[in-house]
Amino acid sequence: MIEAGRDHPGTRALRSEVCVIGSGAGGAVAAAVLAEGGRDVVLLEQGGHYTAADFNQREDSMIPLLFEDAGMRATEDGSIVILQGRGIGGSTTHNLCYCFRTPEPILRRWEQEHGVRDLASFEESFERVEAGLHVQQIQEEELNALNVAIRRGAEHLGYHGLVARHNRVGCVRSGFCLLGCAYDVKKSMRVTYIPRANNAGARILADCRVDRIEVHPGGHRLVHATVLDRAGRPHGELTVEAAVVVCSAGAIMSPLLLAASGLGGASGQLGRNLHLHPSIIAPAVFQEPLHAYYGIPQAYYIDEFIDLERDPRSGIILMPISGPPFLTATNLPGFGRKHFEHLRHLSHMGGLLALLHDQSSGEVEAGRGGRPRIRYRLEPDDRRRLIEGLKHCVEVLWAAGAERVLVPYHDEPLVLRPQDGVSEIDRVEARGGELTLNSTHPQSTCRMGEDRSRSVVNSYGELHDTPAVFVADMSVFPTSLGAPPQITTASLGDRTARHVLDRWPELRG
Ligand SMILES: Cc1cc2nc3c(=O)[nH]c(=O)nc-3n(C[C@H](O)[C@H](O)[C@H](O)COP(=O)(O)OP(=O)(O)OC[C@H]3O[C@@H](n4cnc5c(N)ncnc54)[C@H](O)[C@@H]3O)c2cc1C
Repeated sequence: MIEAGRDHPGTRALRSEVCVIGSGAGGAVAAAVLAEGGRDVVLLEQGGHYTAADFNQREDSMIPLLFEDAGMRATEDGSIVILQGRGIGGSTTHNLCYCFRTPEPILRRWEQEHGVRDLASFEESFERVEAGLHVQQIQEEELNALNVAIRRGAEHLGYHGLVARHNRVGCVRSGFCLLGCAYDVKKSMRVTYIPRANNAGARILADCRVDRIEVHPGGHRLVHATVLDRAGRPHGELTVEAAVVVCSAGAIMSPLLLAASGLGGASGQLGRNLHLHPSIIAPAVFQEPLHAYYGIPQAYYIDEFIDLERDPRSGIILMPISGPPFLTATNLPGFGRKHFEHLRHLSHMGGLLALLHDQSSGEVEAGRGGRPRIRYRLEPDDRRRLIEGLKHCVEVLWAAGAERVLVPYHDEPLVLRPQDGVSEIDRVEARGGELTLNSTHPQSTCRMGEDRSRSVVNSYGELHDTPAVFVADMSVFPTSLGAPPQITTASLGDRTARHVLDRWPELRG
């Protein structure tokens, strides 16, 4: 059973062998593997527990319910919107199911530049996690009209692309993936590893926001949480006494939680090295209706502009993008009537996004009221690469049959038709045009490595400065990943949990 913390006001104290914080890709896998390995586990998740019956496919109610800060989390300067999930399953509840293993050249870079050990165990974790999430190849008949058009455009231009592997089985192609799957065919953590953890005896508590981890020298760890009511207000207090803590609160909250606990700060790297995989969305209007909001939003991708063997530091992936009306509207340029004029063509719309394997980095720290203050500056080289990616998007969209592309400069919206060419983008760039960027992959704020002066956790996720406190989420990536991250994150959860099981007699103290 998953307990709704909101049903238990007042003060409570629990004991377990391991306390896992956060129930997304890292935390859910860690909790399941530890519980199946015989450990007594308590998992605390700040968000609610929602089921398929709650996913009503309405943006006005689902976005505030399932996303951090009601989908409004952003960098301090407002230039990059960062989407992250909250609730049982974390960001896997509303992600888009691309399944990529950690690219080989990135693993080698982690080993060579950061001293990460035991690469062979990553392979074993990939195998287990892909089986656990039912990862399979998307079939030809599952491609929607937008993905087919984008592939046509890429092939016309001679660009390399592939139909992806996903963790969805028997998809009904409603297209509401971003709002939670009402049919339970998306094999998110909520319907895979969380039930496994539960069946193995883990106690899973929703609505419990962890505020602090207290480390008692030579003894137990005490996890302090605030129980939240339906509106997110404090409703009670909970402590969990455990021998081992696994922090999987995601790359924005894990470093804040550790900093609030006075842990992980010895190297001065905690909260730093933030990479975002920033992306630009190019929406387009096609001659024929695509109804791109139906079907699997991202089933195909173009990898022509990323070659990690040649350059493991940078590259661009192009991915089709479509969504329900509100989310589409937020990515269209212009205001008022002009904006409405674009949105009127919703049934003919589909987009392509350019996602950057970024070298730029930023940092996260606690701001007012403990809320995250996220700073990130796109370096000129990365900006140039993103703009190149944007131009490729525009060309692919035209080759796919788009009549016009709505380049989302918010100060000077640009509508480009095939006869215009992409050089107009250079003109707006030269004038300092402002684009809103998006991120769904914040990472690397508690980076992994064997050099204690350059990293926060060791090769298995244990804090260099605090034994028996582990981190297992996207924050431990030593570098930007250059691929969709859920399989890497889940594999880190698997790998860290198995390491804890192997070392259990020593860790339990
Ligand atoms: C819209 C969207 C689409 C995406 N699409 C893809 C895709 O197609 N393929 C892919 O590979 N990846 C995709 N991703 C990314 C993928 O979902 C993430 O890589 C993965 O979920 C990250 O796992 P995590 O454990 O680091 O964090 P999360 O899954 O975000 O989980 C962190 C959890 O910790 C909880 N938490 C935070 N602070 C606290 C606290 N103080 N106390 C208790 N709990 C706390 C949060 O509520 C959350 O549930 C997408 C992400 C988004 C947002």
